[in-house]
Amino acid sequence: MTPVSTFNGRSVALFGLGGSGLATAKALIAGGANVTAWDDSEAGRAKAVAEKIHVEDLDGADWSRFDALILTPGAPLTHPVPHWTVQRAKALDMEVIGDIELFCRERDELAGGAPFVAITGTNGKSTTTALIAHILSQAGRDAQLGGNIGTPILALEPPDDARIHVIECSSFQIDLAPSLAPTIGILINLTPDHLDRHGTMEHYAAVKERLVAGAEIALVGVDDAYCHAIGARLTQRALPNQRVAPVSAERALDWGFYLDGDNIMFREKDHPLDEAELLCSLKGARALRGAHNAQNAVFAAAACWELGLEDEEIARGLLGFPGLPHRMEEVARLDHVLFVNDSKATNADAASKALASYIDIYWIIGGKAKEGGIESLRAFFPLVVKAYLIGEASDDFARTLEGVVPYEHCGTLEVATERAARDAAASKTSTPVVLLSPACASYDQFANFEARGDAFRGLAQKLAASVQGDAS
Ligand code: ADP
Repeated sequence: MTPVSTFNGRSVALFGLGGSGLATAKALIAGGANVTAWDDSEAGRAKAVAEKIHVEDLDGADWSRFDALILTPGAPLTHPVPHWTVQRAKALDMEVIGDIELFCRERDELAGGAPFVAITGTNGKSTTTALIAHILSQAGRDAQLGGNIGTPILALEPPDDARIHVIECSSFQIDLAPSLAPTIGILINLTPDHLDRHGTMEHYAAVKERLVAGAEIALVGVDDAYCHAIGARLTQRALPNQRVAPVSAERALDWGFYLDGDNIMFREKDHPLDEAELLCSLKGARALRGAHNAQNAVFAAAACWELGLEDEEIARGLLGFPGLPHRMEEVARLDHVLFVNDSKATNADAASKALASYIDIYWIIGGKAKEGGIESLRAFFPLVVKAYLIGEASDDFARTLEGVVPYEHCGTLEVATERAARDAAASKTSTPVVLLSPACASYDQFANFEARGDAFRGLAQKLAASVQGDAS
């Protein structure tokens, strides 16, 4: 845990008692703050009470005694309307901040130069963050992985010169961290997302820009128009102690980090192309299939290179990366059939990444449909041998597939997995893949995408084990 000493002896209101809220309350108390916490959910409040955190209805509380509002990133700061706690705080001119801000202030106090890598972007945040931490750990460094992925930032070990914090930041967390100034800031990509919570694309992009604007070394994508503009703007106004390096997964750059085939390259400013340095190759990195993962890998390699790792250390980490669960996760094999769990693909755009990475696909799709359905995936239909429909979206998706892709209504994931496995096993091709990449939310049949992916993994592994059992 990182005790928050910067609020020692002061009083704060804390709203939101999910995982990061509880960790934040505990870190504040450990640092000597007086915390008054609240959450709309009774379960959240009960957990806090069990942890001996003072829980009190903030609506009826006397706010004049508070020095700050510590807000969960799950509650709106601005859009569609500020959360009622934000309105109360603003009326008293009180600062509203989150756990990343508390960490930044603690870092400034304890060890201002402690290495801190912060990662954001619309897509690929978790993969890039986990990959950087994996490469660093494999190279024997003390890497602390957390933030918007896994462990809340204040539940990690305190900042230290010999410790590298690798932190995924959502736009909501950035919005609540005004003094965010990481050693390395990474902005992977930007496409419209969460606009209900940010109002406009411009506001969303401006929030993301703050993470790299404050960084000593900013690694900024150039493959989409928004990031490209941000990189150009930062380069123009960079301070003498700041470096802005462009990163591309699509083309060789005049300078910066880029992908050339499977090779991750670095080219110095004003150096000819044939003097570009090969950092490492992605060949054989099984968990980093697909152009989207290549983008994540270039950023991870660039960050580790900037942190001083040797090329061989970066290469070893990339090759040994096990991948994250539910993102094109290879979960089982049954003879020549591969089972891939891509349950995190909760919309068509995410599913397109997996569809682009395989051929001979036995595709399990459906759940609670998102706007637009799977119409945008038409270009990938020739790669699909057959589709297995589950959940609420079945009829809608059947209409899109009609006459183009053979399909079966399966109802449940269990039936779909059995039938897809049966058909794939009978395939004469060498690489049939049973792919759960549902292009839908899971809530109609599962608690969340993790539960859906876990169920699929269990079913696939049971099928594989039963066939091996028959053979022995
Ligand atoms: P995030 O944490 O930003 O949601 P993840 O690393 O968890 O991203 O990946 C989630 C999904 O987003 C993946 O399953 C894949 O479909 C897609 N994805 C991952 N990386 C990228 C990328 N660099 N560009 C576009 N899509 C990506």
